[in-house]
Amino acid sequence: MSVVKINGIKAYMIDKNTLLDLDKNDALKSFREEFQIPDNTLYFDGNSLGLAPQITQKKMSSVISSEWGQGGIRSWINHDWGISPQRIGNKIAKLIGAGNGEVIAADSTSINIFKAIVAALQVNHERKIILTVEENFPTDIYMMQGLETFAPSKITPKIVPSSSLIESLDESVAALLLTEVNYKTGEISDMREITRQAHQRGILVIWDLSHSVGSIPVDLNGCNVDFAVGCGYKFLNGGPGAPAFIYTAKRHLSLIDPILSGWFGHANPFAFNLQYEPAKNINRFMCGTPPLLGLIALECGVDISLKADIKLLRKKAKKLGAIFIELMRDKFKSKEFELASPLDDEKRGGHVSFRHLHGFALSRALVENGLVCDFRSPDIIRFGITPLYMRYQDLYDAVELIADVTESTNWEEKEETIALYT
Ligand SMILES: *Cc1c(COP(=O)(O)O)cnc(C)c1O
Repeated sequence: MSVVKINGIKAYMIDKNTLLDLDKNDALKSFREEFQIPDNTLYFDGNSLGLAPQITQKKMSSVISSEWGQGGIRSWINHDWGISPQRIGNKIAKLIGAGNGEVIAADSTSINIFKAIVAALQVNHERKIILTVEENFPTDIYMMQGLETFAPSKITPKIVPSSSLIESLDESVAALLLTEVNYKTGEISDMREITRQAHQRGILVIWDLSHSVGSIPVDLNGCNVDFAVGCGYKFLNGGPGAPAFIYTAKRHLSLIDPILSGWFGHANPFAFNLQYEPAKNINRFMCGTPPLLGLIALECGVDISLKADIKLLRKKAKKLGAIFIELMRDKFKSKEFELASPLDDEKRGGHVSFRHLHGFALSRALVENGLVCDFRSPDIIRFGITPLYMRYQDLYDAVELIADVTESTNWEEKEETIALYT
């Protein structure tokens, strides 16, 4: 048994009974019933693909049979299909501290990164450097590089180690593109302070909220952020490949001339004019016809996060993470598992990562044994913490299972088999 301090204040003795008690008194416990929980599975990967809400299946089925099946094309108007990107955008806005009309659900995160970079370069048109850090999620970096291939005179990507980020903020930089919660370590960046420092040098800031939205409270307007993007299928439980979203501060909207200038971003799409003219509002960030079925599923997930209250979710997530770390430390006194995430609950987002010498083989073995987690090269195993459907007792069972698997596995044999089929 070990003792864990949450935020340095309250101490919990953790054994299985304590965890069962915490479950009993959990203010969010009823939300687990709103999800399909996979059989015989400890699901620790909701940071990568959130589980399916029960309501999604019902809603999708009725949209397909009734709205699409019976209504056909009429449902674009009769069932408000046509305004769903805006309606869902406004709901997501509430989770990330944005205002009405500042967020739209559309496309993938990668495509929205493309739009946000172009927008930032248009607003800050005298500069051409887009700065990011080596630790950023690769797609963010790839989108910068693709743009450079097409328009080398307009954009220069600059990628620095995060340790030299602040000193790299100078008057040559047009925009800074950062992810708030690091996808490997779960470390949270200081959005307010970094945005402030960038603005002091005339740099616009684009935040990727893929691992933030639905996991930690975000205050885009309070931090004066310029642009943001994020993902619908992680903590928002919007379903595999769910539409993503993009935010732009209202002050920039009229300065942006979309280069993904599809008809749905037009001021009047159904006038079928020959000249592109961007919509006056956030619609100018749309390109083609919205993926309605994906949007409906996304909305089901977003509604649950709104109902749960992001502050309560965050509070429970911090506690779950702290207990998981403590149970792991208690179980593995050796250096076999090295914590790769911040120990400080305030600095750690929605997953806990450990480095392990045989991380890849071990993560596979865990998944085969019913603990769904994932691996990020070279040696990181990630355990997603999802307070909507995770129970405290799951932490205990997971750590027991990790111990069983590590004790009973011969890594040399394991790695040979994996080499055969990868
Ligand atoms: C998951 C994730 C993405 C996903 O991008 P897609 O275009 O939806 O595949 C982007 N950025 C970050 C930081 C992510 O974690």
